[in-house]
Amino acid sequence: MKTVYNFSAGPAVLPKPVLEKAKSELLNYQNSGMSVMELSHRSSLFESIIQDAEQLLRELMQIPNNYRVLFLQGGASLQFTMIPLNLAQNKKAQYINTGTWSKKAISEAKKLSNVTVEVIASSEEKNFTYIPEVTEEMIDPDAAYVHITTNNTIEGTAFTTLPKTGKVPLVADMSSNILANEYNVEDFGVIYAGAQKNIGPAGLTVVIIREDLLGLSEVPSAMLDYKIQAESHSLYNTPPTFSIYMAKLVFEWIKEQGAAAGMFKQDQEKAALLYQALERSSLFSSPVNPANRSLTNIPFITGNETLDKKFIAEATEMGLENLKGHRLVGGMRASLYNAFPIAGVHALIDFMQAFEKENG
Ligand code: PMP
Repeated sequence: MKTVYNFSAGPAVLPKPVLEKAKSELLNYQNSGMSVMELSHRSSLFESIIQDAEQLLRELMQIPNNYRVLFLQGGASLQFTMIPLNLAQNKKAQYINTGTWSKKAISEAKKLSNVTVEVIASSEEKNFTYIPEVTEEMIDPDAAYVHITTNNTIEGTAFTTLPKTGKVPLVADMSSNILANEYNVEDFGVIYAGAQKNIGPAGLTVVIIREDLLGLSEVPSAMLDYKIQAESHSLYNTPPTFSIYMAKLVFEWIKEQGAAAGMFKQDQEKAALLYQALERSSLFSSPVNPANRSLTNIPFITGNETLDKKFIAEATEMGLENLKGHRLVGGMRASLYNAFPIAGVHALIDFMQAFEKENG
């Protein structure tokens, strides 16, 4: 099999040892004679899986006891509705607009007729190439929460310092940098993330929520109610059992890498290699403000669309796959999540240099 490096933004590369382990257990999980996919979600075997997954995530992110961990479905996108529905009915919610996913979160919240949505800062006028400044004066002390996207997957920017929101809970879409940065969970009221980047396969959404934020509003659906999901330990209905099992294996692997702190160090090293190569290049450049660069999603361009296309086609032939930028931004994007190997970053840089020699 030829070596393939998968730069996809998600679903994304998974750690090889995790896939090997899943393969070895696929047909017969712990002598049950069944695959995890065939186990009842009420069986003791599956209960251990979900409990271990939660315990491991608590360890990796040092989640305090007054936070609940929920394993839900519907993607990060369903959280765009669940957050305001649970936290902001008959209240105001403040948003910081830093990219395509923030915009979607804002637009979903606006659909709820009893939620007032206020966008307090935005970088849209410059195509989301930077993170706007947020000062304490912008925060309404009566707001239900302030929502941010910690890492903007499409645009390649990230918050390097968190906005200070005082007593107002900070709610974060961490889909593309959960477990890739070191965060203090206590700085947040809610953290949520779709699994398919740094956690495991698609189909699972992780929500970490401070207990006092449960049960604040009447929610017209049990499935959308954080309190009910927390009380039933994410087993209100059939959860995505295999995705939770895979997440558990990924968490074990991350633990071996030194938890979130260890991953952060590795991700910094990988990203620095690519950013340095972009700085040195006279063909490729980063469209993003250097102070706000993402570690996990790195867009780059030649400034010539035809050349970008040629680069992507030739890179794909070399096994450097999924480097095409998001259709809204164009150019290229390298997603360097936790499981992405450093050898793949070197392979990309070598190829960029060869391409520049031929085409620069
Ligand atoms: N937020 C961010 C930051 C994302 O990157 C994505 C997916 N790329 C989403 C939300 C949407 O996630 P999902 O597809 O799980 O709904």
